[in-house]
Parts: sequence; C-alpha cells; structure tokens
Amino acid sequence: MNHKNLGKYDVIVVGGGTAGVPAAIAAARGGSKTLLVERTGGLGGLMATGMPALGILDRQLNKVVGGIPDEIVRELTAEGLAFGDLRCPLHNSITTVSPWWWRIASSKKCVEAGVEILYSASLLEVKVVNGAVVGASFLSGSWIYDVDCTVLVDATGDAHAAYLAGAKFELGQPEELNEVISEQTKKEAYDPGRSKAGKVQPVSLTFCLGGVNTEEFMKYIEENPDTYKSPATYGMHYDKEYLFHSPAIYVTCFGEFIEKAKAAGEFDIPRDRVIFATQPNKGEYLINASRVVDVDPTDPLQMSKATDELYRQVAMLTRFFRKYCPGFSECFIANIGAFAGVRESRRIKGLRTVTREDIVGLNIPDDSIALGGYNCDIHLSGVGLYFQPVEHAIGVPYGAMIPENIDGMIVTGRSISVDSYALAVLRVMGCCLALGEAAGTAAAMAVKEQIRVADLDVPKLQETLVTNGAIVKL
Ligand SMILES: Cc1cc2nc3c(=O)[nH]c(=O)nc-3n(C[C@H](O)[C@H](O)[C@H](O)COP(=O)(O)OP(=O)(O)OC[C@H]3O[C@@H](n4cnc5c(N)ncnc54)[C@H](O)[C@@H]3O)c2cc1C
Repeated sequence: MNHKNLGKYDVIVVGGGTAGVPAAIAAARGGSKTLLVERTGGLGGLMATGMPALGILDRQLNKVVGGIPDEIVRELTAEGLAFGDLRCPLHNSITTVSPWWWRIASSKKCVEAGVEILYSASLLEVKVVNGAVVGASFLSGSWIYDVDCTVLVDATGDAHAAYLAGAKFELGQPEELNEVISEQTKKEAYDPGRSKAGKVQPVSLTFCLGGVNTEEFMKYIEENPDTYKSPATYGMHYDKEYLFHSPAIYVTCFGEFIEKAKAAGEFDIPRDRVIFATQPNKGEYLINASRVVDVDPTDPLQMSKATDELYRQVAMLTRFFRKYCPGFSECFIANIGAFAGVRESRRIKGLRTVTREDIVGLNIPDDSIALGGYNCDIHLSGVGLYFQPVEHAIGVPYGAMIPENIDGMIVTGRSISVDSYALAVLRVMGCCLALGEAAGTAAAMAVKEQIRVADLDVPKLQETLVTNGAIVKL
C-alpha cells in the first residue's frame, strides 16, 4: 500500500456530515489549519438528503440555532433553495433545504474558510500517545494518508474515531427505558412496539419522489382529516394553519392506504403511516418511511444487509405511493440518500452527560454550548414511536463533547455523551449543526491557547460562539 504523510494540521475533522461541516468551517474561521475528511464524495451527511432539520425553533418558537448553519440557511432561502425556519405543531419547526444545494454550499463555505477537504477517504487508525490523540490515518483508493494533528474532532455520527482511540462509550438502550416508553404506549389503542435492551433505534434510507401533484394530495388530506390525526398520547397534533398555509410541511399520514396495501400483500414494512416533507423543487417530497430494526450500525456486515433490505423497501414504497396515494400516481424516484441513515449509535462517556433528568427538568446548564429544541422521539421496534413534547430547549454542556479518558479529541453530532432518552431529543439536525459549530470553535481555541480541550475556558468559548451568532442559552 502507498503511504503519504500529509504533515501536521491544527485540527482534523473526521466526517463531513451534519455536524462535521460547521465544525470544520468554525475551526478554520477560528484560525486553525483544518483538514476535513469525508468517506463519501460529498459533504452534508444526513443534512444533504432533503430531511428538514428539526428543532431550530423550540416548542415555544424560540430560535435556538444560529451561527454558521443559520448563515447557510438564510443564503439558500434568499435564492428559493430553502424555506427558512417554519413552525410545525409536531416537530416544533422544520428547516428544509435543497439537499443538492446544501452539499454545494457546504463545499463553498469550507473552501472559503480555508478548510482542506479529503473526499472518499475513510478513517483507518487514530494515533494516540500518552492518552492523547496526535494524528490519524485515512484510506482512500490505493493510498493511506497519515496526518498529525493537535485536536481531532470526531463527527462520524458513530464515534468511530473515539472508538479507535480507546474512548469509553455506550451502545444500546437500557431495559429501564421501556418503563418510560410504556407510560405512553400502554394508553394507545394499538401496539407501537417497544425499546429493546442493548438495541438502538431502527436504521432507514430516505429518498425523494418527484412528479407529485401537490394540489391533488392536499385536497385529499383536507377532505380526510383522519389521515393526519396523531395518536392522542403524543399530546401534539397538526393544525389546519400549518398544513394548508405553511410554504412547506412535514406530514405523517396515509395509514389507511398502508392497511389496504398490507391486505393486498403489497406492503410489509413495519410502519403504520408514512412521513414526507415538501422540497424546494416543485412537486418533490422527501419520503421517510423505510425501517429495519435491530441493526448494529457499527457492524458493517449488518449495515450492508440492512442497506439491501432498505433498497427493497424504497422500491416497495415507491410502488405503494404510485398505486394508493392521491397525487402520487405519476411519481418517480428523484434521489436516494447516499447511505443508510442511523438514528442512534455509540454514545461516548464524556466529562458531562445529558440525561433524561435534564430533559424532564428542561435544564440549561451554565456551561451550555448548544441548545436542543426538539421533542423526545424514539422509533420503536414495532411500527410506531414514543413521542413526547419537551416544552422548551435544553442546553448541552461543553463536557458532553469531551471524552472522559482521551485527550486531544472532541466528539460532536449524535455521538456526544447522553443517555438514550436525551439522545432521542438531541439527535436531530438542528442540535447537531449547533454542536458542530461549538466543537470546531472549541478546537480552534484550544489550539490557539495551546491548552488541553478539557481545560478550555467555557465562558470564553460561549462568548466567542455568541459573537459569531451562535445561540447557547435561552
Ligand atoms: C432515517 C432518519 C430520519 C431522520 N429524520 C430526521 C429529521 O427529519 N430531521 C432531523 O433533524 N433529524 C432527523 N434524523 C436525525 C439526524 O439526521 C441525525 O441524527 C444527524 O444528522 C446526525 O448528524 P451527525 O453529523 O452526527 O451524522 P451524519 O449527518 O450522519 O454525518 C456523519 C458523516 O460522517 C461520515 N463518516 C462516517 N464514518 C466515517 C469514517 N469512518 N471516515 C470518514 N467519514 C465518515 C459520513 O459519511 C457522514 O457524512 C433522522 C435520522 C435518520 C437516520
């Protein structure tokens, strides 16, 4: 194998997804020589699929994510390539951007900030000396690239770098989570499923359908309000103002057609309704409805099997929409996500951990560096969801990004130090975008001040974030 040494960077960001992009831009803008390494051929991760980022406004409609993500959203919205931040009665807010334009904007902003990007390169090894990360190796084509660094930001979503460095982590839900879940599910008229001890939320592959007749589908849902009725136990319901007057919607419906398709042997996906989101391209909708349960996202063999099953489901869903759903008879696949999406994976053991108590107590700690403005949303092992409101944003303490036992590393995105319940609130893209900016800003400050990331002056970090437009407290 060919080895090439790329020299030393102040900051390496591994993973150019939802959190990784703002992390790299923030690190470079903070004065660090920054390398961003992404295993696919484009940036954005799950943010570049057409899914709306949730929780950019919290339940009280406070804006809780600003800074770099907001800068990109505002620029795309001005060009008609995004809808801005819109209220949603179920998801608090939806911020839908064109997937392709998010990818393009991510590349442009990184290049402008001076980030160097290594595409199609996967993390191979993390170099740890005396308990501190000092570099990493990446495999791309027939090359292994060795890179030294002062700080490594793990934005892989699966904590791959933290794992390879020997950081402590947890994977899977505790049995006790079922007690919490059953408070909701035992009141429901059907069995939505349970959490499974040691397992994580299902994996799914999102895709977009084009050629949809919006007027026809809206007429159907207007005349059939039962189709979008949420289970009473959610305590959150769509309203007409949102459904029929918002420029874009994210709507869960069509359970009645799933029943028909199931009876005809044409639907075997464990779901009782489908969810889809308006895209900036006219007549296009993001479909979030595939699901494979009991997959360990850190096991590539299991993920590969799940991916084939998800492609089978994408075909089944497309045929289902064409045959059964009003307005979709002429639809076609406009795009499919670059990889099977993961909702829950490794959670590092950090210096601080966000727990269910913090969510229930609506806690915003003094050392909050990002806000999570979403509800608690756990996809269960059956067809349904545990879905409960969180009345306003909660804060993520800086220490939730810092591995307890490894120096020279910051973990961002969905792999921060949380329990499974808190993860179900903070995992969405609004919060991951904010966590990315916080991680990159912190990395650059630690480099500049030549201190350990664990020793960073958090009030100074908060001040820098706020000066740059980020939001750290309500
Ligand atoms: C099906 C599904 C539906 C969801 N729906 C919504 C929704 O509607 N709204 C919402 O806000 N959130 C939603 N979420 C949650 C949200 O999308 C994710 O939790 C969030 O995007 C995680 O961000 P991240 O940066 O941690 O990971 P990602 O966005 O997944 O980014 C990780 C990046 O790291 C790269 N990478 C991984 N491993 C390596 C490696 N070894 N080397 C190099 N690069 C690597 C990946 O290619 C990727 O680009 C959904 C999640 C799923 C799976």
